[in-house]
Amino acid sequence: MDPSVESRYPAATPVGFGAGRRLRSQAKVLPEHARSHNRALVLQTLYHRGAMSRADLARETGLTRVTISDLVAESIMDGIVHEIGVREAAGPGKPPIVIEFDRTGHQLIGIDLSGTTSFEGAVLDLGGRILERRSRPLPQEHDAEHAYAVARDLVRELVEVATRPVLGVGVGTPGVVRPDGTVVSAPNLTWTEMPLGARLNADLDLPVIVRNDANAAVLAEYTFADAPSDVMLIRIGRGVGAGVIAGAQSLVGARFSAGEIGHVVVGTDEGPLCVCGRRGCLEAWVNVPRLSAAITAEPAHSASLLADAGARLGIAIAPIVAALDLSEIVLAGPRDLLAGTFADAATRALHERTLDGVFADIHVRLSEQEGIVMRGAAVMVLSAQLGVS
Ligand SMILES: [Zn+2]
Repeated sequence: MDPSVESRYPAATPVGFGAGRRLRSQAKVLPEHARSHNRALVLQTLYHRGAMSRADLARETGLTRVTISDLVAESIMDGIVHEIGVREAAGPGKPPIVIEFDRTGHQLIGIDLSGTTSFEGAVLDLGGRILERRSRPLPQEHDAEHAYAVARDLVRELVEVATRPVLGVGVGTPGVVRPDGTVVSAPNLTWTEMPLGARLNADLDLPVIVRNDANAAVLAEYTFADAPSDVMLIRIGRGVGAGVIAGAQSLVGARFSAGEIGHVVVGTDEGPLCVCGRRGCLEAWVNVPRLSAAITAEPAHSASLLADAGARLGIAIAPIVAALDLSEIVLAGPRDLLAGTFADAATRALHERTLDGVFADIHVRLSEQEGIVMRGAAVMVLSAQLGVS
């Protein structure tokens, strides 16, 4: 069968596993894209389902044996898939060769520019395992070019320590980021209209993908921690930002600002003064320095302080949960502050403020991942280069 025809009638894929979990792209599959679409389907299936024979793969993907054989041969040539042996034959005939996604044949560079004291970076294998870590102190002088040079040198150092061919560089940065990798605005780094992706690509001669740090982090939770297809991840640190996956699609937004919930005012009772000048922004209620300072000042009241802050978070996100019908809210931030009382209060507020029964199973939990932005940045590369997520 002509592969372009085949691709227009994609096999039904089970929800929640394998190919069904792939992040959806908004683009329609045109005949000229069929080959890369099918290749992504094959790689995605191998990535999540593990080792199998070519015949198994044909069954799983709904593609023909001929197409599978061709795409697997190409992927073996590229060093993305390898043959790992033969399976014990159950019946007559030649025992089938088992193939597997090769997680160690290439490496990824993941960069996190959102830290308050340093830029962090890692070399990862294609399974998201961190192999090497490096960091650079955050430049103190407010100079856009200097901040760029520090980030570029960090990537360079990581490329040098990589022990396999590097598939690409993913960067999670604070601020608003256009899909072309331009940082529209990141005040902490004094970047305005900084063409970060294009410049790194030119300086390093590697594919570079740049996204907002929270948008990167949610991908790590989706790919490596089995988060559902409708999930919001909220990073809580000096500020508050979120990344949203809805219907297995990463939300970007009309202004590339989807997930910018930090300066939504929570309630009508004013509240603490925010860095933006308003009172009662979500970020003003729940930022880490404020919570830590309040608990240090009144240790006896720490439970009520955390419960109050958690409730504010729940109030702020209840309409988002309802509008997008999210399955799960994941927090990323300091465990000592956010686990337990804070997360439980947020969950309770969500239950109290959404339609009874419908959202009864929603809960707020803490991510278990170390280096979540770097790992999410690695997923950006996996997704862009191989269609795997
Ligand atoms: Zn604000």
